[in-house]
Amino acid sequence: QGEQKDPHEKMHEGCSVKKVIGVVSGKGGVGKSMVTALSAIAANRNGLKTGILDADITGPSIPKMFGIHEKAEVSNMGLLPASTPTEMEIMSLNLLTDNETDPVIWRGPVIAGAVTQFWTDVIWGDLDVMFIDMPPGTGDVPLTIFQSIPVDGIIIVTSPQELVSMIVEKAMKMAQMMNIPILGMVENMSYLQCPDCGKKVEVFGPSSADAIGAEYGIPVIAKLPIDPKLAMLSDAGRIEFHENKEMDAMVDVLAEMGLD
Ligand code: ADP
Repeated sequence: QGEQKDPHEKMHEGCSVKKVIGVVSGKGGVGKSMVTALSAIAANRNGLKTGILDADITGPSIPKMFGIHEKAEVSNMGLLPASTPTEMEIMSLNLLTDNETDPVIWRGPVIAGAVTQFWTDVIWGDLDVMFIDMPPGTGDVPLTIFQSIPVDGIIIVTSPQELVSMIVEKAMKMAQMMNIPILGMVENMSYLQCPDCGKKVEVFGPSSADAIGAEYGIPVIAKLPIDPKLAMLSDAGRIEFHENKEMDAMVDVLAEMGLD
């Protein structure tokens, strides 16, 4: 009977990551990549050496948010992640394809294999924390990724448009199967704040995050407004320059994991 190898050791030689956080959602378009980016920015601003592994390979949007359009460089050691202006490390399939607008039409197992290689073959260096932008849903592909990368905790992204309890239950089942703790949930597009009077309008109906969080014992890390400025900065590849107060509580989550 072979001794179980610490999966962290499967990283490229000389590289290490203290904690890995997976960001999941029930479906696409709720802002999972946005929350991944803002969480990583909060960690980075708090002085942690931060990386993002873009595993949402069918819609890799992370590089664009950070204004990265060049292909990843290859050194004689292996594949190098891209660095953002504030020195975060990023790897995404979009940094490898010839044309960043090419669609990826791979099947599940190939996607999971590529993502696993992002873990094993990229020269990440020494990171304090890595955020993984997971493929949407709780199907085979995210499951395989969770089995091949040592994820220390999961963040669930929801929006008020969804059947939040169902998504939370599915994510909890997946987390239990993998024996990974759920660190909290983030409700995105929670409300819109009137720029004139400051009133909060619940565009998609009242938030259920607090009630569902309490019911399942999952802390609500943040409720993010629909923010046209944020969307603009993100589209312009300047998301790092967004003032990111809404995600401040992420720092407490990291501290609880022993990162501060
Ligand atoms: P997902 O990763 O869940 O598919 P994205 O993070 O790519 O979703 O977000 C989908 C779209 O919505 C993007 O164009 C993004 O800029 C926009 N968006 C996400 N969250 C917000 C927000 N809080 N305010 C404004 N626009 C947002």
